[in-house]
Amino acid sequence: MPAQGSRRHGPPADKYATSFRRQFRVVTIFLLAVNLTIGLFARHQQHAIIDYAVTIYDTAFISTNYVSLAQISFQHYIDERFRGAGPAQTSEANELLETVLDDMDVAVERSSSAQTREKGQGIRAEIAELLKPQADTPELKQRITDIQGRLERLHEKNSGIGLQARDDIEAFSYKSDLLLLCSILTSIMLAGLVLFMIHRMISSLKQRSSDHLYAALEGMPQGFSMFDDEQRLIICNGKYAAMYALDAGLTEPGTPVRAILERRSINGTAVINADHFVDDGMAFALQPTAVSVEHQLEDGRIIALTKAPLNTGGAVTIHMDVTEKRNSEKQIAFLAHHDALTGLANRVQLREHIEKILQQVKRGRKASVLCLDLDNFKIVNDTLGHSVGDALLCAVAKRLRDLVRDTDLVSRTGGDEFSIVQSGAETPMAASAALAARIVEALSVPFELGDHHVVIGSSVGVAIAPDDGDNVDQLLKNADMALYRAKEDGRARFHFFESEMDVKAQARRTLELDLRSAVSAGEFEVFYQPIVNLLENRITGFEALLRWNHPTRGRVAPNEFIPLAEETGLICTIGEWVIRQACAEARKWPSGLRVAVNVSPVQFRNKTLVPAVVSALASSGLHPDLLELEITETVLMMNNDTTLAALHQLRSLGVRISMDDFGTGYSSLSYLRSFPFDKIKIDQSFVRDLIDRPDSIAIIRAVAGLGHSFGMTTTAEGVETQEQLDQMRAEGCSEVQGYFYSKPVPASEIAQLLSVFQERVQAVA
Ligand code: C2E
Ligand code: MG
Ligand code: MG
Repeated sequence: MPAQGSRRHGPPADKYATSFRRQFRVVTIFLLAVNLTIGLFARHQQHAIIDYAVTIYDTAFISTNYVSLAQISFQHYIDERFRGAGPAQTSEANELLETVLDDMDVAVERSSSAQTREKGQGIRAEIAELLKPQADTPELKQRITDIQGRLERLHEKNSGIGLQARDDIEAFSYKSDLLLLCSILTSIMLAGLVLFMIHRMISSLKQRSSDHLYAALEGMPQGFSMFDDEQRLIICNGKYAAMYALDAGLTEPGTPVRAILERRSINGTAVINADHFVDDGMAFALQPTAVSVEHQLEDGRIIALTKAPLNTGGAVTIHMDVTEKRNSEKQIAFLAHHDALTGLANRVQLREHIEKILQQVKRGRKASVLCLDLDNFKIVNDTLGHSVGDALLCAVAKRLRDLVRDTDLVSRTGGDEFSIVQSGAETPMAASAALAARIVEALSVPFELGDHHVVIGSSVGVAIAPDDGDNVDQLLKNADMALYRAKEDGRARFHFFESEMDVKAQARRTLELDLRSAVSAGEFEVFYQPIVNLLENRITGFEALLRWNHPTRGRVAPNEFIPLAEETGLICTIGEWVIRQACAEARKWPSGLRVAVNVSPVQFRNKTLVPAVVSALASSGLHPDLLELEITETVLMMNNDTTLAALHQLRSLGVRISMDDFGTGYSSLSYLRSFPFDKIKIDQSFVRDLIDRPDSIAIIRAVAGLGHSFGMTTTAEGVETQEQLDQMRAEGCSEVQGYFYSKPVPASEIAQLLSVFQERVQAVA
């Protein structure tokens, strides 16, 4: 489809302008040269005429006059000479002859041509001859007659020159007139040329501006059309023609709008679902006001039209293809409200939906929010990789979608966290319980993901609006608390929100705030519990155990606040403080006594542990061998290179590493092999259960044996009775720790404890 509308004809304006300028320059220079030559020539001619006129004056008037005067005087001389023959008449005649000679002198002097001058001089010489005394002889008369004749001829000759000069002047002035005429003509031509040039310049400017206009129209990224007051096309650009697939015939000036609309109604560029497209289009064209509308065409494109009426009637319309823009806006809007992986609603949409549902709740309806997360998802992700993890999330999303009604909203709110808003149920509690049970059941069915057979589970927490909350945050928070409870209860189950959960959560929040201020308020204190070597029967060291002296609650046990400190990350600051305190305290003890400090897995994640230990040892001056760090299996469960590197770094400093609470977790032997521990501490639960559970003895025996073979010390925790002590000794444990010897005591009591212990040992001995 060729571009129509703003077509232009003929060679380019620039080419025109260049050749024209060149021609104009040549002609102008030529005319100026001609004009200058003619002018100079005319000036020369005028000078010649003036010189000639002066000469003519001299010869034709002065010389001729004097010749005439000489003739007259000569006649008087003749008359006097021949009036009488006496000397008196002769002398008078001679005087007259002198006058003739004077006149001849002037005539000769003023003669213009050499010939007349010569002739004049010859005549004068002859006249001068007459002054000589001579008789009235016929020869004299003859000479006088000759002289008269020669004077007459000289007179005629001079007059002839005058007449000739008159003719010449006439000829000169004719030529001069001609030159003037030529000069006028060339001036007129020059003026014409200048006018022509001005005209050409104006039309070239006009041509150029219309070229610019055409170029601008063609360069527009939008379609452009202009119609007159009778709805006929004035101009349009190629984009317009291409946009509506109009052929050349329909883009010619004068084409009626109706013809264009009719073509569009059959070529697939009409407005979609418009029953009266042509009439509607005509009505739009006739509207006398500025309008902006957006149309979707039958071929799917979306065109934005902006129409502006003209003062002269008719209108200009800009047609912009906004399909891509609208599609990407839709895409952005979709992404803003959906989870990119599963296509479910995201948190933003979830909140907006709950807001909407809460409006209905205000009118007496009820709705429930179900929060769920997947059990074991992290394991799947870590062991089978993220692509399987992603596939699992998509499969979960599909199962959830299949479980709900169209009016319910399923959303993904986090990694493996989903929420469902259920509305419109008559009995929301029963409906949400049924849905929650269906979810737990559906997600417990194994997933077949490619080659992988994946088993997960889910826990669900339910909050009902408005009973459990009348705003988005509260509802989500309460459903989340119920979910937490379901997980606490053993997972793969659902739980409704209960108000005491909120009370617990509040208490937890208060505790967290107190804990934050406790660090700076100096409310922590370290207690120490002795560890006794059974072979040597002596205290080999103490375990540092943290205490929180709360201003109102009194002394808070570590089990109550350590998990919270770990969750909030506060354990890092607190833990470093404990290490510094313990090292400084142990430095004061008798030589050889060790201090054991508990280290949380969270501290290993934070990379400041090693530098903190180095700094505590350096500032206290404690020998690294006297510091023992107790870690649990959880640290090794994050069995990554960074953790092991940190442990080895600590070991290389000389610090000893113990495995605490062994037997409570997975008690995997591989953990014992992954790092060369110095000590295994058997958890107190085994010691406590000794009497009731004979298998505990077997475990203690096994661990003690393991310790022996790995070359590790084994310490039994929680020894409270003599019986337990004896049993531990019998099973081969190298050390014990427990209330039997001493509860954890403040640092100030250590010295006394040591001396009492010594006395006790000596007494036994
Ligand atoms: P743990 O490291 O296993 O410490 C031994 C716990 O057993 C201590 O409890 C101690 O008081 C208690 N215990 C010792 N002998 C007996 C006994 O004969 N009978 C009974 N019933 N209990 C006994 P505590 O001090 O309450 O500490 C509890 C746990 O808190 C510790 O267990 C340790 O995991 C953690 N903890 C204590 N202090 C710190 C600390 O500074 N940092 C970290 N990260 N955790 C600490
Ligand atoms: Mg410990
Ligand atoms: Mg322990």
